[in-house]
Amino acid sequence: MTESKDAVPKWLDSNAIEIAMSRERPPERSVLEDILAKSLSLECLGLDEIVALLRVRDKEDKDLVLSTANKVKQKVYGDRIVLTAPLHADNHCASGCRYCAYRSGNGEIKRKRLDMAELREAGKKLMLQGHKRLVLVSGQTVAEDIDYFAEAINVLSRLFDATGEIRRININLGALAPEAYAKLKSVDAGTVNIYQETYSKRYYELAHPSGPKSDYCARISAPRAALEAGVEDVGLGLALGLGPRDYDLLALSLHIAHLSREFGIGVRTVNLHRVRPAPGCDYTPPFAMNDEDFLMSVAILRLAVPYTGILLTTREPAGLWRQGCDAGGSQLLTGSVANPYESWADAPDEKAPFPIGEETHLDEVVRFLLEEAKHLPSFCVACPRLGRNGQEFINMASQGDIRSQCGPNSLASFMEFLMNYATPYTRKLGEALINEKLERMNEHERGASERLLQKVRSGRMDEFI
Ligand code: SF4
Ligand code: SF4
Repeated sequence: MTESKDAVPKWLDSNAIEIAMSRERPPERSVLEDILAKSLSLECLGLDEIVALLRVRDKEDKDLVLSTANKVKQKVYGDRIVLTAPLHADNHCASGCRYCAYRSGNGEIKRKRLDMAELREAGKKLMLQGHKRLVLVSGQTVAEDIDYFAEAINVLSRLFDATGEIRRININLGALAPEAYAKLKSVDAGTVNIYQETYSKRYYELAHPSGPKSDYCARISAPRAALEAGVEDVGLGLALGLGPRDYDLLALSLHIAHLSREFGIGVRTVNLHRVRPAPGCDYTPPFAMNDEDFLMSVAILRLAVPYTGILLTTREPAGLWRQGCDAGGSQLLTGSVANPYESWADAPDEKAPFPIGEETHLDEVVRFLLEEAKHLPSFCVACPRLGRNGQEFINMASQGDIRSQCGPNSLASFMEFLMNYATPYTRKLGEALINEKLERMNEHERGASERLLQKVRSGRMDEFI
């Protein structure tokens, strides 16, 4: 059934959310354990169960929630953390979102759109750090821009040098018309990200007062429109702090359940990021979130939708993103979005358009993951390479069958990174971690991993099973 773009969709049952939220008491320990056992068997949770997790207060119970979320993540994906670099194609925007430096009317930043030569240069900088996955980001895209983005994807996907290439390009371009999605699909765009930011209509409208993004209903129906237009994978997201946390997590779970029911696909990833100060913005998020609530949100989302990828960002403080990975995060947005704009940021009289903290070099991130977190950094793109998208991917992930692929493929992609891009110190740490991981694998996974590693060590690239 086609959904109206002008009305709040029926699946967003605010009444059911309010009723579930009226529960105030923390769950008994035995109830909590039953809920966690359900997540561990990779079943999605219902509203009442999610609210029970949101009501946990006791420190010991919170620790149990966090550690179980990690176990669920390990069961679905193992301990790999997939790394993706955002590449901002421009910072023009017709919308006036109050928390975003790109908003129209913000005179504090210089506006620019990269031409194809600059885009190539920007993509190359990320590629030469070792990135294999990009997400192409722009402000609110209008219909006539689609040809530009299609060309951009073509340019970026043709980037290669002797040691590698860009292998996956996801997009984050706002809500688009069906023809635009079809066009982007024709150039092999990856996951289409459309972040609702907050599902509370009231707080959404407060934060998004003008421009195309101010249309709450059009935004909320966009992921469905993308799937109807033939897109295989969509990503959702919350800007934590803009709306009430409990309502947002519950509504998000309904959104995922709806897409899963209607399209049999579910949602590939959910991005959880907190609103941060940005140049030229003085908006105070009405529900600013502390670190502890942020981590619990990550964990509860992992438990609520066990097989959905959870994307965090290295814009969170270092210790926190490590804990976020331990609480169920499975992917990191990182790498330099500022580097492609060096010429803007360094020019006198021009304010950098991006908040400080995004200029992280990939080698540093990898070293951090190895030294502090012991997670396996992954550049794997096996699933898209094999056409394992949409329903096929979700079926494997929801049954716990993707993990046996993630381990060997992530090790091979990581070895490729170590050999071609890492500093000697990072390489030494990385090789030690690979040996550690091999020792802990079962015989089948270890055999597959060793065969792949041997091929990579002999100079082959892009190896996977
Ligand atoms: Fe920023 Fe996106 Fe809003 Fe534009 S639409 S102002 S880029 S958040
Ligand atoms: Fe991701 Fe698939 Fe590779 Fe696992 S095997 S890391 S899910 S691309």
